[in-house]
Amino acid sequence: MTRFIDVQDLARLVNRKGVATCLVEMAEYIRQDYLRWHDFDKCARVASHSHDGVIELMPVADASLYAFKYVNGHPKNTHNGLPTVMAFGTLSDVSSGAPLLLSEMTLATALRTAATSALAARYMAREDSRSMALIGNGSQSEFQAIAFNTLLGIDEIRLYDIDPAATAKLVANLTGRPGLKLIVAQSVAEAVRGADIVTTVTADKAFATILTPAMIEPGMHLNAVGGDCPGKTELHREIVEQARVVVEYAPQSRVEGEIQQMPADSPVTEFWQVVAGQANGRENARQVTLFDSVGFALEDYSALRYVLDMAQALGIGQDIALVPTLENPKDLYALLQPRVVGFRATPTTACA
Ligand code: NAD
Repeated sequence: MTRFIDVQDLARLVNRKGVATCLVEMAEYIRQDYLRWHDFDKCARVASHSHDGVIELMPVADASLYAFKYVNGHPKNTHNGLPTVMAFGTLSDVSSGAPLLLSEMTLATALRTAATSALAARYMAREDSRSMALIGNGSQSEFQAIAFNTLLGIDEIRLYDIDPAATAKLVANLTGRPGLKLIVAQSVAEAVRGADIVTTVTADKAFATILTPAMIEPGMHLNAVGGDCPGKTELHREIVEQARVVVEYAPQSRVEGEIQQMPADSPVTEFWQVVAGQANGRENARQVTLFDSVGFALEDYSALRYVLDMAQALGIGQDIALVPTLENPKDLYALLQPRVVGFRATPTTACA
């Protein structure tokens, strides 16, 4: 049987544990899996682009588990009452191919993206970082704010979105969280000025320049989350050229990340190298660092592993027959036969 976790199940799971706890624990699952980088069979995700968006499949496997996520990115969706990003995913047993988990992953993606962002910032931001600008206040933003507050002790967040209603929603959702001061800014420049960390998490299918070189100050850490497709970036090219750039998986990031603006052979560091201690996240206090996040399948593998472990521990979700359980594994056709167990045919005509 396959454990099935729908949106309500995952919301219940996260509420039972607390969002902050989930972010901390998921970040540790992600860190552990990045430490095992060479155990994984990896590839860039398979993207199907259309006029207004993209649909992507993200597979990854090690010797015991295979994971994939289906995810879309349609920045205009919110005008039609749908989220920009929607996702679901599965985890399967490599030895048999049997699916172990089928889970919603819209919420799980927001959690894993925020957990990954904060984890990267722990290696890349200055240790004395206390303030963050959060540009783009949509679905991902609360998770980013809570992750940076919880994992890094960021206690002041300056918010900006071209849609004031999105910012008002974020403020309403986070008001009352102890130890977190929210400041609404009137422009990107105002939000960014003096911030230790800048997170950009906007949605627009364009070569946008949310951040321009004049806004960048020595020692800043940039967490660029919203540029994650060919032709969809958030940073001015000069910023990318001058920063110390860390990416998740170079073959995918060169196509999708901020570094798509750079020559194909420009030097980049992969995050696993930083986690493994083979490369520094930051080399000095005045360096500008950039985590060029696009979202990599390994983070979804970690998230699915976490969801399955927690669902089993808390008894959440239901076991469904997603694939057949057969008495005779060669007799699939039996599923189409009338059930005979406990049923005895009675003749309709009496025998003489
Ligand atoms: P969303 O549509 O809910 O929110 C995006 C917000 O950005 C909206 O409120 C919009 O008004 C705002 N925005 C657009 N242009 C802006 C601008 N120029 N300045 C300021 N704000 C602007 O989307 P979401 O689910 O929060 O996702 C945000 C982005 O993050 C998307 O581009 C998505 O593809 C990306 N994403 C990346 C990862 C990753 O792993 N890197 C994971 C999930 C989502």
